[in-house]
Amino acid sequence: MSTIRISRIVKETKVEGPGLRYALWVQGCPIRCEGCFNPHTWDMNGGEIRNIDDIVCEIEAVLGTSPELEGITLLGGEPFSQAYELSVLARKVKGMGLSVVTFSGYDYETIRQSGHNGWRRLLQETDLLIDGPFIQSLHDLSRPWIGSRNQQYRFLTNRYKELEASLTSIDNKLEIRLHPDGTITANGMARISDLELLRELGYQSKEVKE
Ligand code: SF4
Repeated sequence: MSTIRISRIVKETKVEGPGLRYALWVQGCPIRCEGCFNPHTWDMNGGEIRNIDDIVCEIEAVLGTSPELEGITLLGGEPFSQAYELSVLARKVKGMGLSVVTFSGYDYETIRQSGHNGWRRLLQETDLLIDGPFIQSLHDLSRPWIGSRNQQYRFLTNRYKELEASLTSIDNKLEIRLHPDGTITANGMARISDLELLRELGYQSKEVKE
């Protein structure tokens, strides 16, 4: 049975790509960018192991209650460290009519030229790839969903091609959730001042891109 090592799932979010999305942060990242705001996702042995079929069932359930669900977003951690498994998941959700947005700390050319079967498969299943590591000195929040100027949008299918000309009109946003047990979680893009405020409020789990 195929599995994915995950850090976190947010079943419905509007700040991790176009429209309403099911976001899955994988666990494990070998890239280790200086200034990464999710270092707890680096450990290749951390997180939780989930069956792909269970995740597909969960996505089907979200789609049942929220038919406006656009697709899934794969981020991390480093999705290409579990590329084959994520390509299996991506193919199944595309069969449900959903789109796939994938983030990677590797740049597009490195992925394309890797010759790695799993990397090729995940690329084939991805509609929109957002590539490149987070580089602190190039920090920039002027474009949606990404935090540094080197990172790029690669429209690999026609699914979101029309967004290419209007990206700058899409705002970066942060979603903050207050849970019944008093914990606070957040995802999306944050300014340093937002993070300082969140930390004052007791925020610990990150999954936030600065
Ligand atoms: S920013 Fe992304 S690619 Fe870079 S270390 Fe953090 S999780 Fe890995």
